[in-house]
Amino acid sequence: MEFPASIIEVMPRGDLAFSVRFSRPDSFMFLPGQFIFITIGTGTAALTRHLSISSSPSDSFLEVTKGMTGHPFAEALRALKAGDEIVVRGPLGSFTFRGDFNKVAFIAGGIGLTPLWSMIRYATDMLYNSDITLLYSAKTEREILFRERMTEIAEANLHLSIVITLTEPAPGWAGHTGRINRGMIENEIPDWRERVFFTSGPPAMVDAIVAILREMDLPEDLIRSEYFTGY
Ligand SMILES: Cc1cc2nc3c(=O)[nH]c(=O)nc-3n(C[C@H](O)[C@H](O)[C@H](O)COP(=O)(O)OP(=O)(O)OC[C@H]3O[C@@H](n4cnc5c(N)ncnc54)[C@H](O)[C@@H]3O)c2cc1C
Repeated sequence: MEFPASIIEVMPRGDLAFSVRFSRPDSFMFLPGQFIFITIGTGTAALTRHLSISSSPSDSFLEVTKGMTGHPFAEALRALKAGDEIVVRGPLGSFTFRGDFNKVAFIAGGIGLTPLWSMIRYATDMLYNSDITLLYSAKTEREILFRERMTEIAEANLHLSIVITLTEPAPGWAGHTGRINRGMIENEIPDWRERVFFTSGPPAMVDAIVAILREMDLPEDLIRSEYFTGY
């Protein structure tokens, strides 16, 4: 479906990204993990990008979270004010999770967390008892997406564990460091053979993770991926 939506709020998400919340028509249904097309402006000045929905189907509003690239669409999106209108088309995509597996592993870096965040939020709100391990990589602590909500959601959902690794940690960071690699997956997700893997983000990152999972001989039907083409 296609509909005009009214901006509610634009909010920073650390050094990496920002979120935009907007109105959700009662008739707009989507599955966690799906994406939408957002158009800002009209006619020849119109700018359109596909963005994953970072809010949960259980929220009354819609939200997307955009990496700050400094490019025209990103800047126009960030400059929106409450009451401004955008055009939304969707939902699209089959990269979704609604508690359909007992054990899943979510792997993402940077902005790639957005569809997985919707899945985690929804699974938590719906009290699904699927066991979820999120392995997330960011450059710095300030680039961790939804950081302020992570502790709260991990406390609310006893079936969720979150492992964060930083590739450019500041002195004093006590967590994991370096990129996600095979050793990290095997150590942090010891029961990985029992899980369905979901990975999303810029194509280079998704390709790297999928290559590792194949090297581990994980069957193809246990690997779900979403490519953020355009990064
Ligand atoms: C299913 C899906 C879900 C997605 N979800 C998200 C999401 O949740 N959050 C998010 O931030 N992004 C997401 N994306 C990516 C998003 O659609 C954009 O492509 C991305 O955010 C970059 O948009 P931009 O306008 O900031 O940059 P753009 O201006 O589109 O630039 C992107 C790249 O293209 C290059 N480029 C731009 N114009 C040209 C040109 N004329 N010639 C050559 N190179 C050029 C730039 O240098 C840059 O490397 C998703 C993509 C897909 C397919």
